[in-house]
Amino acid sequence: MRYVGRSAARQNSGGTEIPQDYRTAANSKPPRTIAAMVERVVCDVCGAVTPPHAHYVVRIDVYADPSVPAMSTEELEEADFDQKFADLLEQIKQFTADDLQDDVHRRFEFKLCRPCQRRFLANPLGMPRRRPPEAEN
Ligand SMILES: [Zn+2]
Repeated sequence: MRYVGRSAARQNSGGTEIPQDYRTAANSKPPRTIAAMVERVVCDVCGAVTPPHAHYVVRIDVYADPSVPAMSTEELEEADFDQKFADLLEQIKQFTADDLQDDVHRRFEFKLCRPCQRRFLANPLGMPRRRPPEAEN
């Protein structure tokens, strides 16, 4: 989006428009693009509102072990892959598409405030898992 108005933007050497610092210009309001960038971020854990760019992003990938189990030549020769494939197809029929996708790969992404990021790093798996912690500080 281009800025409208006199000298609302200046060019840097790369040709990218850099908005003027509107706080130094008297009687001027922030351009709409700046206002859009100042969107606040709500922490996905505690709901705290963090200033822009002061939050952390937690990305969690859950996927099946991609390594292939070691098999000897004899095991490979003895294996009945047709039967194994038929068994696998039979098992798959019991699952929904979501179940199957969950078995392969799930990705989560959360935005955290700094205190929640600290707590997350101290205990990424939220141990112990059986009971929620009582009145944690
Ligand atoms: Zn938080």
